[in-house]
Amino acid sequence: MSVYRGAVCKLCRRERKKLFLKGEKCMTAKCSVEKRSYPPGLHGNARTRVTEYGLQLREKQRVKRSCFMSEKQFRRFFNISDKEEGPTGANLLINLECRLDNVVRQLGYAESILQARQRVLHGHIKVNGKRMNIPSYIVKEADEVTVNEKSKDIEKIKESLEKSGKTEPPEWIERDSSVLKGKIKRKPSREEITIGGGDIKENLIVELYSK
Ligand code: SF4
Repeated sequence: MSVYRGAVCKLCRRERKKLFLKGEKCMTAKCSVEKRSYPPGLHGNARTRVTEYGLQLREKQRVKRSCFMSEKQFRRFFNISDKEEGPTGANLLINLECRLDNVVRQLGYAESILQARQRVLHGHIKVNGKRMNIPSYIVKEADEVTVNEKSKDIEKIKESLEKSGKTEPPEWIERDSSVLKGKIKRKPSREEITIGGGDIKENLIVELYSK
């Protein structure tokens, strides 16, 4: 899978929206979107006419980038969602919200999706007692997500946990901070989606992929 290795703040600026890819910095005035709310590049500030295709593409890119996924992986999620019962767009967002890296972030074991992805890839996370190093794993109802026993003393994880203790995870996840365990109570509803900064028009993504 090709992974973007450039400056992540450029991704937010391109979408003209905070995608919260850098944890604490995203909440401060140092955020690049706060400082320069126009796309990067020589013509970033220029006025351009936005076509229908352009709108669809930007919506898809915003969601894809906020999950830090490649086009191939995003398309795979779309195809999975399309085969499920119910509206494809909502299914897609729910499946993305249920990705293991997003659940790790929601539980506070990492401060951003990028950090969460690293935690999973480096083997710090277990699902139902077994090490799981696939960030795109889609959690299911009753899955238990825990920090690997040997990783609980890692300073960066401790820092994230300390900060996350101040905020509650969403209602569809139950957190037991004393044993660093999260349990999936149910799938999130469409209204509980947080990826992409919320307010996603998923119908635009469905229209784009239906061409
Ligand atoms: Fe960078 Fe975070 Fe601001 Fe995005 S939201 S531009 S990742 S600081």
